[in-house]
Amino acid sequence: MVIRVSEIEGEVRIKGAVEGLKTPGAEEGADVVFHTPVEYELLVRRSGDIMRVKGSVGCTLTLTCSKCMDEFAFPVDAELDIELAPKTLMLSASELELKGEDLDVYYYDGDEIEFDPFIYDEIMLNVPIKPVCGEDCKGLCEVCGANRNHEECRCAVTAGTLFGEKLKFFLN
Ligand SMILES: [Zn+2]
Ligand SMILES: [Zn+2]
Repeated sequence: MVIRVSEIEGEVRIKGAVEGLKTPGAEEGADVVFHTPVEYELLVRRSGDIMRVKGSVGCTLTLTCSKCMDEFAFPVDAELDIELAPKTLMLSASELELKGEDLDVYYYDGDEIEFDPFIYDEIMLNVPIKPVCGEDCKGLCEVCGANRNHEECRCAVTAGTLFGEKLKFFLN
């Protein structure tokens, strides 16, 4: 989605969906896949050349569980809150620090602002580093590699017993 700075007066509400957002390298089996288009509803408030963009972005991702390696649907419902300033107003890192605000400031160049990267970043900020398909995911068996959510293997039982025996030995 592209907005033209010159067309924004005061406040503009923008609503829509970005289709086909892809993580770079998605073809090579990256573990984040956009399962649905990203829907957004944003309020752009202009004061001078500075744009405050606030609203919701959401979609469903397909992630790969870090424990059992199964794919699972992961809904993201995020709040975007950023400020866009023209490049000519770019502050140095120390100036930003002085400003002391927590707000994310981005810079634009010219009359057009491409929003997809901001939407993309906001979604990715909500992806866990180690995604897990569910709180009760049993993961893969360390011995035989079986997905313990789908099948019962004997390894866990044996290892458990062995550990029990050793413990008894130490306790005695
Ligand atoms: Zn899992
Ligand atoms: Zn096993």
